[in-house]
Amino acid sequence: MKYNGLGVGLGVVVGPVRRMFTAVPEPTDTVSTLSTEEETARARDALEQVAGELEARAQRAGGDAADVLTAQAMMARDPDVWEDIEAQLAQKKTAEWAVAQAFRTFVAMLQSLGGTQAERASDLVDVSRRTVAAIMGVSAGDVPDSDEPFVLVAEDLSPADTAVLDLTRVLALVTSGGSPTAHTAILARAKGLVAVVSAAGVQDIPEDEMVVVDAAEGTIECSPSEERVAEVRARMNEVDDDDAREPGRMSDGTAVPLLANVGSVENVQNAVAKGAEGVGLLRTEFMFLEETEAPTVEEQIARYSEILEALEGRKAVARTLDAGADKPLAFLPLGKEENPALGVRGIRTVRDHEPLMRDQLTALAAAAAAVPSDLWVMAPMVADATEAEWFATMAREAGVARVGVMIEVPSSAIVADQIFGVVDFVSIGTNDLTQYTLAADRQNGAVASYQDAWHPSVLRLIGMVGDAATASGKPLSVCGEAASDPLLAVVLVGLGVTSLSMVPNALKEVRATLLRYSMEEARMLAQVALATTDAGNARGAVKAALPRPPR
Ligand code: PEP
Ligand code: MG
Repeated sequence: MKYNGLGVGLGVVVGPVRRMFTAVPEPTDTVSTLSTEEETARARDALEQVAGELEARAQRAGGDAADVLTAQAMMARDPDVWEDIEAQLAQKKTAEWAVAQAFRTFVAMLQSLGGTQAERASDLVDVSRRTVAAIMGVSAGDVPDSDEPFVLVAEDLSPADTAVLDLTRVLALVTSGGSPTAHTAILARAKGLVAVVSAAGVQDIPEDEMVVVDAAEGTIECSPSEERVAEVRARMNEVDDDDAREPGRMSDGTAVPLLANVGSVENVQNAVAKGAEGVGLLRTEFMFLEETEAPTVEEQIARYSEILEALEGRKAVARTLDAGADKPLAFLPLGKEENPALGVRGIRTVRDHEPLMRDQLTALAAAAAAVPSDLWVMAPMVADATEAEWFATMAREAGVARVGVMIEVPSSAIVADQIFGVVDFVSIGTNDLTQYTLAADRQNGAVASYQDAWHPSVLRLIGMVGDAATASGKPLSVCGEAASDPLLAVVLVGLGVTSLSMVPNALKEVRATLLRYSMEEARMLAQVALATTDAGNARGAVKAALPRPPR
């Protein structure tokens, strides 16, 4: 029996299943036999207990996980939620009913907003579930305890549970719900955990069943053969060797620099440790998510210098602020929009805030001048050559040495030849390029299956950009998730991409796979993919056409 879902990460593991499907009883709408004061105390104590537990987990988890857990603790202490709870209690409802009811209203509100807000609704559901369990004195359901390493199968693990998973015990995470862009998947990716989410039917896999979880394929195989178990175990036991730190290249020696996507100086240190040849995407907006006022030029110089110092002269491609849609910035208020992904985001947000862009470019140029470094700067979401030229002029005036743009919108892929005429380099953001080519919101789990850069329409657009890059003799990178898929990476190189930037955990496998094929073979595989009719066919046809297995 094989189940299919959406893989997070790349690894493959084998192990026995431990299930976590605990349902907290639904509170019933009964008249309380206690006084309102007593019910108020029950609700307040439980909320405080849950907030305290979440804060303690935040401290233990650190990093991105700490932010998610702290935000959840704040939800438990939200005065608006408390006001609703008190209103319920005043009507002689029980504490458990009042809490569940109040959170339900807020969850429905978040869900109606759609996009990222809707995904945060599951964090709120988790706070509600934990609080109701605390009031009722029952377990909220915890990760099973086991001496033997296991594959955790759950309906949808909460960020609170994901953040503190013991990686010496949990081999992989499989959920029947969730989407690859929800917090749980983001945290799993950050921990380097093998995970498959949104795998319908996995709740039927019995406890202790042996399964192979393959994140690259997005599959869960039950009762694998002895040979398969041995093969997967051998892959799990492979150790990093020094060869894994070599620069990226094809089997014929053609160099394909492998860089990392980062959002903080800690990410840079991790990337360098994993053999990244530099940074191919510094998401600068991630550095200022907490700021409520625009960071000053001096503050920005200090932050960028830290990154450049950690890179010790290696290449760094900084992206100017990419705000809007899924990445709101507190200091850059944008009006509410019906379709934020199609609205004011990326470079469009600074059209009306030019001083913000000029300050950032000045700070980037100043940091590059102060630290021995190789800094390139690019703008996100550029629609055409006119917009690219507007940005390039401003960046060069600020003193930026190497100016580029991201191609993330089909319009700019189509006129890539014109764009190469006005910039020094291009980087393709395949996450957004796929979303816009297939008209599927990347934040919406219901259309997650369309978010697949293997689709020949996306590959044809990349091929157009690749041809324009070759004709201009200028560098072309891919910095979307597509670059972290080892076989797709080979196809991208065959389409004319000259460097790849990815999550650091993917570097090893991409490096090993590129080394298996020559440029000529990569071009042949690219032609195979371009001729197919959908993403699944493209993946299958390329696998079938491989001159030798990937490893
Ligand atoms: C992309 O869209 O592929 C990209 C790299 O940018 P982000 O994921 O930050 O939007
Ligand atoms: Mg993007």
